[in-house]
Amino acid sequence: MKQIILAAPRGPCAGVNRALEIVEQALQKYGAPIYVNHELVHNRYVVEDLTRQGVIFSREPESIPAGSIYLFSAHGVSPTFRARVKNCDLHLIDATCPLVTKVHDEAKKFAVHDSYIFFIGHRGHPEVEGTMGVTKMHLVESVADVAKIDLKDISAENIFVLTQTTLSVDETTDIIAALKHKFPQIKTPPAKDICYATTNRQKAIKELAQLCDLILVVGSRNSSNSNRLVEAAERSGAKAILIEKLADVPESYFTNVKTLGVSSGASVPEVLVQQLISELQKMFSDIEIQNLEILKEKVIFALPTI
Ligand code: SF4
Repeated sequence: MKQIILAAPRGPCAGVNRALEIVEQALQKYGAPIYVNHELVHNRYVVEDLTRQGVIFSREPESIPAGSIYLFSAHGVSPTFRARVKNCDLHLIDATCPLVTKVHDEAKKFAVHDSYIFFIGHRGHPEVEGTMGVTKMHLVESVADVAKIDLKDISAENIFVLTQTTLSVDETTDIIAALKHKFPQIKTPPAKDICYATTNRQKAIKELAQLCDLILVVGSRNSSNSNRLVEAAERSGAKAILIEKLADVPESYFTNVKTLGVSSGASVPEVLVQQLISELQKMFSDIEIQNLEILKEKVIFALPTI
């Protein structure tokens, strides 16, 4: 191998940085343990590190000692779950990403009389569970799902579509186009729901795919945006693999690779990427490292008072 090209932007987004900062401040102010409803962000390294610092993940607020600190992860929660927590004697801190909250607010606005709301997302993802709990919505995961919708079942005047924040931009565009074809009157939110970080990382990896023989995406299996990066690279013609560490890459993958691309999901600390690079430098001598920066991100979210 001769060259490694690092995609930029990659790695942590403003929502993940905010959630981590909130937990850090909470640990400093209140001390351990701090309870969180779900993995704060979808990254094993981060979750294990937080566990060592005294963070406990629990979806059963009723079983947490009274007076404890309870935090909502960046993925957000449904109003029903929020109400459950409010009924417990807990000090609640909300680390929901503001861009997820924006989708919840759109759902509330669209939930008018005689409305029918489609939600494009992945079943079982915590963000999807949270957002779909805001009001009655109908999950669509693919263009094939749209084809199966029976027009006779939908008489509503007001038809809307919302999406999960971390989807494939291309796939979602196809699904929305299929929905628009079936329901020309369908209304979309004023600003796209797929967040800036997901969009930028996918744009960067698509450009990277033009230059590389193989792309390694650092991220955990349960991270939606990391999986979408692999798909975006593959759609652009590159071979790509999701890994947590170098040992996850079968050695045969490096055969005939001259240029290797590296990116990382929005929940992945940069230290993991740097660790991977130094291991690759040990494995292959004289590798040239380059950056492919398609834009600079300047998004920062304000912290809540905790
Ligand atoms: Fe927020 Fe996007 Fe980051 Fe999710 S990926 S936490 S929506 S900025």
